[in-house]
Formats: sequence, C-alpha cells, structure tokens
Amino acid sequence: MNSETRKCQNCKSDFVIEPDDFKFYEKISVPPPTFCPECRLQRRLAFRNERNLYRRNCNLCGRDIVSMWQKNVPFPVYCQECWWSDKWDGIGFGREFDESKSFLEQFAELQKLIPRPQYFNYESARLVRSPYANCSGDLEDCYLVFATQYSRNCAYTHYLNNGKDSFDMLYSDKAERCYDSQDIENCYNVSFSVSSSNCVDSMFLFDCKNCNDCLGCSGLRNKKYHILNKPFSKEEYEKKKKELKLNTSAGVAEFRKKFFDEIYYNTPRKYYHGQMNSNFSGDYISNTENTFEGFYTKNTRNVKYSFWCLGGDDVYDYFAWGDLHKSYEVVSSGDNSFNIKFTYGCWGGSRNIEYSTYCISCNDLFGCVGLRHKKFSILNKQYSEDEYYKLREKIIKQMTEKSYVAKDGIQYKYGEFFPIELSIMFYNETVAEEHFPLTQEEALAKGYLWNEGERGSYVASKKGTELPQSISDVGDDILNEVIECRVCKRPYRIIEPELKFYKEMDLPLPQLCPDSRHLERIKLRNPLKLWKRKCECNSKKAKIVYQNTAVHEHGESECLNEFETSYAPERPEIVYCEQCYLKEVV
Ligand SMILES: [Zn+2]
Ligand SMILES: [Zn+2]
Ligand SMILES: [Zn+2]
Ligand SMILES: [Zn+2]
Ligand SMILES: [Zn+2]
Repeated sequence: MNSETRKCQNCKSDFVIEPDDFKFYEKISVPPPTFCPECRLQRRLAFRNERNLYRRNCNLCGRDIVSMWQKNVPFPVYCQECWWSDKWDGIGFGREFDESKSFLEQFAELQKLIPRPQYFNYESARLVRSPYANCSGDLEDCYLVFATQYSRNCAYTHYLNNGKDSFDMLYSDKAERCYDSQDIENCYNVSFSVSSSNCVDSMFLFDCKNCNDCLGCSGLRNKKYHILNKPFSKEEYEKKKKELKLNTSAGVAEFRKKFFDEIYYNTPRKYYHGQMNSNFSGDYISNTENTFEGFYTKNTRNVKYSFWCLGGDDVYDYFAWGDLHKSYEVVSSGDNSFNIKFTYGCWGGSRNIEYSTYCISCNDLFGCVGLRHKKFSILNKQYSEDEYYKLREKIIKQMTEKSYVAKDGIQYKYGEFFPIELSIMFYNETVAEEHFPLTQEEALAKGYLWNEGERGSYVASKKGTELPQSISDVGDDILNEVIECRVCKRPYRIIEPELKFYKEMDLPLPQLCPDSRHLERIKLRNPLKLWKRKCECNSKKAKIVYQNTAVHEHGESECLNEFETSYAPERPEIVYCEQCYLKEVV
C-alpha cells in the first residue's frame, strides 16, 4: 500500500494518509477520513466545554446548581445525584430507526430530549466543599477548577493533579504552594514557572530541574541561589531578591520582562517537551512508543493524532482522558474502554460503542445517549443481539450510501465524527475556541452554536490597575470589591482562601480576571501542530546567536540533525536537537 494525498472536505487543503494509517482503518473497519487531521481535531475539541459554568436548576429535583450547561439548552439537566440515580432510565427515550430519514438527523433529535449530568464528573467524584469543578474529582476546598484531580485548597486550575494550596495552575502534577505556573511537577513554593520539576522556593523558571532559590533561570540542573542564570552567594542572593521587589506588581512585571528578554529567548531548548519516547512525534509527550502527532500524551503505544491522551494503545484521533484501547475519533471517553468510535463521553469499561454520548459501562451501542449498564441498543431502543447487529449493518449501509449534508454543505458519511453543528455546546465555550478561535460571524455561518453571553450585571468598583502594588497594603475589604480585568474588562472577585494565599506567599494581587490569566498561560504554549526544522546549533541562520559551552560532535560546523517540532520556523526561540541540547543542559 502506498501513501495517498487527499483533499480535506472541510478546509480543502491536502493531507497524506500513510500506509500504516490505511492498515489501522482496515483493522478497525472504518473508511479512511475525508477531513484533514487538523479539521478532525477542531471538530473533536468542539464537543468539550471544560471551563464555562452557569447557574441553573436541576430539572428533576429542582434545586439550584452550577453546571456546564446553560439554562436554555434544549435538554433537561440533572444534578449529579439525580442523573446518577435510578429515578430515570435513558432506555425510556428509545425510538425506532426511521429508514426514510438520515441516521444523524435522528440522533440529533434524540439527543435534544435526554437528560445530561450537571458536570462531566464521575459518579464517584468526591467533591468536598468544591461546588465549582468540572471534569474533576477527589477535591477538597477547591474553586473554579477544571480537569483537576486529587487536590486540596486550589483555585483557577486546569489539568492539575495532586495540587495543594496552589492557584492558577495549568498542566501540572504534585504542586504545593505554587502559583501561575504550567508543566511543573513535584514543586514547592514555585511561581510564574514553566516546564520544570523538583524545584523549591523559586520564581520564573523554565526547564529547570532540582533547583532551589533560583529566580529567572532556564535550563539549570541541581542549582541554588541563581538569578538570571548567574550564581550568587546566599547573602548576595537574598539582597538582590529584595531589590527586585518581586512582592509588587511592578517588580513582577519588570522581572518577567527581563527574564524573557535576557534568558528565555537566549538559551537553547530541546525541540519538544517531554522524555522517554521511542519512535514518536509531537510535543508535551512522555513514555510513548510508536506515537505520532501526539500532544499532551503519556504512556501510549501505537497512537496517532491525539491530544491529551493518558494511556492507550491502538488509538487514532483521541481527545481528553485515557485508558482507551483500539478506538478512533473519540472525545472524553476512556477508563478501560475498548473499540469506541465517533463517540464522546462514554466510559467505565465500555465496549463496541459508535455514534453515542454519555453512556456509561455499556456495550454494543449505536446512536445512544445517556445509558448506563445497557447493551445492544440503537437510538436508545433495546434489541436482541441478533436484531442489533442486523439493524446496525442497515444503518451503516444507509450512512455509507447517503450523506448527511451539514449546514455548511459538508457531506457526512459513515466514518466521520459528528459534525460540529451536532455539538450541543456553544463553539465559544468549548476547547475548540482556545485552539481554533472563530469570530461569532464565522461560527454562525458554519452553523455552530454561539453564546452571546450575559456575563452577570456587576458594576466594577475598582480597576485591576488600581489595586495596591503590594499585598501588605491590602485589607480584607478587597473581598467585597468587584474588580475590572485589565485585559477583558470583565468583573472578577478575590476569594478568601486566595487572599490568604497571596498574603502567605507575599504575592501581589492579580490585575487580570481568572479567565484572562488562563489565556495568558495558554499563550505561552506551543500550538498543536508540527513543522519540519533543522537543529539551530551553530546555524548561520539562527536569529539569536547562542555561544555553546561544550564541544559538540559536529564541531564548529552546523548541526545537520532534523526533527519535527511545534516551534514554528519563524519563532524566536533557539531550538536544538536532543544531542546538542544535552551537551548544553546537563
Ligand atoms: Zn482540513
Ligand atoms: Zn437533582
Ligand atoms: Zn479578563
Ligand atoms: Zn543539533
Ligand atoms: Zn550542537
């Protein structure tokens, strides 16, 4: 089998299907995709709202809840207790497949009727005094945390595991008393830092390991008392640190600029974030084998085109979560599930599920919504095993012969994920908006839902820029203020545990709202895309000349190593191959 170049139905650009890809599609009995990998990724991301919460009622018990679903969604929303109870059964909504109508049309109608849970959380998700937590579990005293697990006294975190007394974190694990950092692991009292591990009492680190008392450093290992990569005595360090006034907004802003100008962009970095991979491509990727175009992917084998995949094998086109096997085009499904296709939100050891959503611990489903412990169902109607397979074949035949034409004119046959217009989420509240932003006009023109949003009617009592420079000048009355974000101008508040945290950490109050802070962190991340590049070591074309400190195998000549990297060629960072990087960062 040869590789083939095809034209994406959606964006009309060319994409390549490799012989190994054909083999995979054959193995799992699906036709090759008609969308390019990027459009497929965008489509999947449009089926997950992680961070937007709304006040509403439970439509079963009536109580006030906070939910990832707005008041005006077409289907009922039940609180966690009601949704996971036996007070209702999804099979009661079952309907006959109507051959005269397209399957996706019938699925679209069905999904408008069936209750959804308040949050995308496990049944057993333990949320102690943590009512604002989506895609999360095992929390105590957490506030506005998303995809956060096993954490205590944390707020404004996203993809955090094992956090304690930490605020404003992204993609991190084992962080205690940490602030405004991302990709950090096993750190204590670390702020404003990126991609570092086992560090203590430090600020503004990039790619540091086993360091303590370091400020504004990059690529250091086992160091102490360094400022902007230069060593100091303990006394000098303490003195300099005081002079930097890192407990004031102005001091933090000034030092941040210095760190980026003098260190971050002037020291070489490895072409990808991660370690322990063999035969791979991607970024933020660790412990993988035969894993390609993997982003935020860990512990995988034979996985391709995946974003946020924690554990899996024989999987293509996956987004969010892990422990998934032999599956394709899946969102937020996992937890020891197998042979899942064109599906979102199905977990708990599920098997053989297609075109379904919110089905837990089920097997052999096609086009079902909101079922638990069921099997052999189509459009929520129960069949015998025999009937099920016959009808399934019939539907697949219909879907193969006759397309569903979406509002934007794109034709959907069996083998593609749901069209975005079937996402009952507003495009601008989903993860797609973070990575593939659209304007309201663009989204509506494509037939996607858009939230015009009334985001509360608070009038700000103070501007972010008017906040005191240092936390020592802030009294408890700040808890009553409504502050206007410096960036998006929307109002936000400071909560009590947050104020206590800033006081203990001697950190200035943020002038940005939690959402804008999150987006600033996202800006520091590389795109979910790869470019072919050459190592910049000794390159005449390098934009910034870095003087190597060690002798490299290629000597004085340019390094000829090539790689795929998420650092686009026009970016300012100095990007090295693994060998050259390891010579410089030891
Ligand atoms: Zn495309
Ligand atoms: Zn309820
Ligand atoms: Zn804002
Ligand atoms: Zn090199
Ligand atoms: Zn080199």
